[in-house]
Amino acid sequence: MGNVNGAEALKALYGLQEKDLEIDRLQKEAESLPEELLAVKAQVEALERELESLLERQSELRKEYNRHSLDIEDLTAKEKQAEAEQRQAQSAREQTQYENRIQQIKDRIKELLELSTPIMEAMEGLEKEIARVEAELAALKPRLEELLEANQVRVEALRQEIAQRLEERSLMAESIPSPVLKEYEAIRRARKGTGVVRMLRQGQVFRCEGCNVVLPTHVAQKVIQGQLTRCPSCGRLLWKGD
Ligand SMILES: [Zn+2]
Repeated sequence: MGNVNGAEALKALYGLQEKDLEIDRLQKEAESLPEELLAVKAQVEALERELESLLERQSELRKEYNRHSLDIEDLTAKEKQAEAEQRQAQSAREQTQYENRIQQIKDRIKELLELSTPIMEAMEGLEKEIARVEAELAALKPRLEELLEANQVRVEALRQEIAQRLEERSLMAESIPSPVLKEYEAIRRARKGTGVVRMLRQGQVFRCEGCNVVLPTHVAQKVIQGQLTRCPSCGRLLWKGD
C-alpha cells in the first residue's frame, strides 16, 4: 500500500468508525428501556409480589380455619354420641361420667370457636387487601401494555435505522483494504469502540487523540507520511487528520 493510498484508507477508516460509533449508540438506545416503562414495570412487579404473599397468607389461614372446622365437626359428632350413650346410662355414676365427658367436649368446641373468630376476621381483612392490590394491578396493567407496545415500535424503528447504517457501512468498507479493516476491528473490540484516532498537533508536539500521549517524532513522521502506524501507548491506528 502506497503512502498516499494509506492516508486515504485511514481517512475512509475514520469515517467508517464514525458510522460504527453511530451504530453502537443506536444499539445501546434500542436496548435501554424508557424510564416510565421501567417505573411502571417495577410497580407492577411489586404489586404482583405483594399479591402473591397475600394469597399465600390467605391459603395458610384457610387451612388453619378448615382444620378447626373439621375438629369442631368431629367433636360435635362425639358430643352427640356421648349424649346418646348418656341416655342409655344405667347408674348415676355413669350419668355423671357422661356429663363430664360432654362438658369437656363442649369446652373444647368453645375454645376452637374462639380460635376461629380472629382467623375469620383476618381472612376478611386479607380479602379486602387482595381486592385492593388486584384493583391497583388492573388499573396499572393496561398502561404497562401500552408502554411495552410503544417501546416495541420505538425499538423496531431503531432496528430499521441500524440496518440502514449497516448497509451504508458495508459500502464504505469496500474502499478500505481488508487487512486494514481487520486490524481496525480487532483494535476497536479491545479498545472500547475506537480503533483509529487522529494525531493532534499541539505547538511543537503531536499527541494521540485516543490516549493523549505525546508521540515520538519518528512515529509522528510516519503518520504524516500516511504510513499505517499504531500509537505506541494505546495501540490504536493513527490518522494524520484533514
Ligand atoms: Zn494512543
